[in-house]
Amino acid sequence: MKPVYVCTGGCGGKVSAEDYAAGKTTCATPGCSKEGLPLESRQECEECGAVISLAEVPIHKH
Ligand SMILES: [Zn+2]
Ligand SMILES: [Zn+2]
Repeated sequence: MKPVYVCTGGCGGKVSAEDYAAGKTTCATPGCSKEGLPLESRQECEECGAVISLAEVPIHKH
């Protein structure tokens, strides 16, 4: 798993931990319902690409 930050407003925006640390902390997609609002912390499975919450990590199986 690797940490990522996602927009939950429907635009599908996702940034890496590096980009988040560099200041990309809000949705920048024009017209997105969460434009300008903070991205949310998630975990991305490097094996299947699924983006899940921290709580789902222990039950994530393939
Ligand atoms: Zn968005
Ligand atoms: Zn997976």
